[in-house]
Amino acid sequence: NQGLGSWPARRARMTPDRVALSHRGDHRTYRDLRTRTDRLAHALRGLGVRRGDRVAYLGVNHPALVETFFAAGLLGAVFVPLNHRLTAPELSFVVEDAGAAIVLLGDGQDGSGLPGRHVPAGDYERLVASGAPGPIDEPVDRDDPCLIMYTSGTTGHPKGAVLTHANLTWNVVNLLVDVPFAHDEVTLISAPLFHIAALAQTLLPSVLKGGRAILEPSFDVARVFDLIETERVTVMFGVPSMFGFLARSPRWPSADLSSLRHLLCGGAPVPMPLIRSYEERGLTLLQGYGMTETAPGALFLAAEHAADKAGSAGVPCFFTDVRLVAPDGSDAAPGEPGEVYVRGPNVMPGYWRRPEETAKVLSPDGWFRSGDLGVADEDGYVRISDRIKDMIISGGENVYPAEVESALYGHAAVAECAVIGVPDERWGEVGKALVVLRPGATARPADLLAHLDGRLARYKIPKYLEFVAELPRNAAGKLLKAPLRARYGDPAR
Ligand code: ATP
Ligand code: MG
Repeated sequence: NQGLGSWPARRARMTPDRVALSHRGDHRTYRDLRTRTDRLAHALRGLGVRRGDRVAYLGVNHPALVETFFAAGLLGAVFVPLNHRLTAPELSFVVEDAGAAIVLLGDGQDGSGLPGRHVPAGDYERLVASGAPGPIDEPVDRDDPCLIMYTSGTTGHPKGAVLTHANLTWNVVNLLVDVPFAHDEVTLISAPLFHIAALAQTLLPSVLKGGRAILEPSFDVARVFDLIETERVTVMFGVPSMFGFLARSPRWPSADLSSLRHLLCGGAPVPMPLIRSYEERGLTLLQGYGMTETAPGALFLAAEHAADKAGSAGVPCFFTDVRLVAPDGSDAAPGEPGEVYVRGPNVMPGYWRRPEETAKVLSPDGWFRSGDLGVADEDGYVRISDRIKDMIISGGENVYPAEVESALYGHAAVAECAVIGVPDERWGEVGKALVVLRPGATARPADLLAHLDGRLARYKIPKYLEFVAELPRNAAGKLLKAPLRARYGDPAR
């Protein structure tokens, strides 16, 4: 077995007694992980799961999710992690779309109404125990599909990206080239494992290196501080909003953060003021850029250049190529925006059962079109400007909401913000900022706009600024702009 299903056994051969997974005070060694994964694979085979079949898991981060992932890999089956925050009809759509043979349900998940066969959480331990011990003999090739991972659904319906064992392996190799993960890392996984970053940037490197991963069912600021301090956490991934919640917490100034070694941040624009607030505590946010379709890493800013290239997402990962493509199809010059194209061994073979969608984003020569805009500097360091779809064109000038949001985050009263484009008679489109104030802050809209004056060119300054109680985010913690446009897109209101 050349696939990821073999990783627990390979690791257990080297370090059987090290703790692989911790969950709510329950610790499992690599030997346990291997034994249980083998048994689960036998049990799933007993239920009829065969190579190529899809095995879904619905639930929050839990050892059962990890075991199911590896057990599916042992059988050459394809793991489909499901987002428990989807509504019942959305979930049915995804389970149907994936054609899952079986759905394992995590604690508290209700499978009624879902198509296919289910294993309730209460039956899971019995299922594992029912499987024969010992290795399972199933040939699995690195180019076989390992995972169907649905995209975050930030811009619309999630699409199932097929990722092979090789895609995920190369992603981990790319990451380890840049981040010196040691054997003794303690990785806190509080981002959901049904999104690519938690799985591929934290769980897999942890298992590869024989580290300990702490699985948290959700991102809870107080828990995160507690765990960092008591478990001496060394590695974390978060989208910028998670790191923002920590930095705004009353515990931030006094928390003992001395154990942290590698903080991986990406998945959405990383505001400069956020990077600075970590710097002030002697911590470096390592920005990466990627997407589900590229398993996910495409660009990475290694610690060595985190200071002099702060705000950039770095350079292409070692085994991956990135082009910035101008509208006329030529390579964008330094300083000029271009669409980010990605090619390399981490790029998916395509979307699951969506050849037309695949053809739109994957060229025959292997380049994947991201739909994001980036600008490279003279040294090749790329700043992600924004999604092409989110760009505002105001009086013929391109305005990138991410840049305006970053400037707004520089004002002490701003807890969260989002900038959208709204129609304007004179300029075609103008910006509208929606701002959540920090508790107790008393700034007026005019104060925030005055803060932007001189920091941003005039045409980039939003014409409207409104205070709101909260901003819509998905399970990945990403801002959802579509509902904001629907609700606030009318400039008159
Ligand atoms: P969907 O494709 O379903 O709309 P999504 O694109 O948000 O959802 P993901 O694959 O999880 O789903 O996210 C990839 C996207 O996240 C990228 O295309 C990009 O827009 C954004 N992103 C990732 N890293 C960064 C970064 N460092 N800076 C800015 N944006 C980023
Ligand atoms: Mg996307």
